[in-house]
Amino acid sequence: MITADSNAQQPCIHCGECARVCPEALDPEALFFAAVKDDWTALGTHHLGACTECNRCVEACPSHIPLVAWFQWGKSKLRERAKADAARTRFLARNARLARERAERAARRRDAASTVPLPVQTISHNEVLAAIARGRARRHTKRP
Ligand code: SF4
Ligand code: SF4
Repeated sequence: MITADSNAQQPCIHCGECARVCPEALDPEALFFAAVKDDWTALGTHHLGACTECNRCVEACPSHIPLVAWFQWGKSKLRERAKADAARTRFLARNARLARERAERAARRRDAASTVPLPVQTISHNEVLAAIARGRARRHTKRP
């Protein structure tokens, strides 16, 4: 004969027993549905982090819902998201710093180019004539 498992999980009947026994005054039912729906905002709003995993809501639940298992899973997901958010913040901050440093280097190069005068070599007409004369003289002295 097949008998129904009296401890099998059943749907939530919204009886409120879990909230009544929670020593942290949390709303385990709301936390449960937030975890089921991957609603990370609601998990935060309903203070999942304050759950001590004391298991009293699970013991009181007539539908045998493994509430604490859901809360542990939700906490692990929130931790992963916090890590990913921190990594993204670090990445964006690094990119912003590198861009700022590049812009500062470019500005320094522009400033240096505009303030340091380029050496301009000038030569007078007389110096040109003197150089020509020296060249001719050298050519004359080399001839046998
Ligand atoms: S396990 Fe968490 S939600 Fe459940 S009764 Fe304890 S503190 Fe409250
Ligand atoms: S005790 Fe169980 S069935 Fe009742 S509201 Fe809480 S989760 Fe739902």
